[in-house]
Amino acid sequence: MSAKRYRIESSCPQCGCSFATHLTPEELKKKYGDLPNIELECGECMIKYTKPREEACPEWDKECRMKGQ
Ligand SMILES: [Zn+2]
Repeated sequence: MSAKRYRIESSCPQCGCSFATHLTPEELKKKYGDLPNIELECGECMIKYTKPREEACPEWDKECRMKGQ
């Protein structure tokens, strides 16, 4: 099994603080499913917001598209 990790990157639309995390494909699936938008929570102001998967994690998005074909 490969331990590949994807980098999720975003910045909060309200306070602008940046957010980044690394997750394995299993963790990504469990957390976000296969939805085109992923839900994130700001660690500073605690608001929840969604972001298109292709923006937050282009690499993962690409892989999902490849699997879907
Ligand atoms: Zn914030």
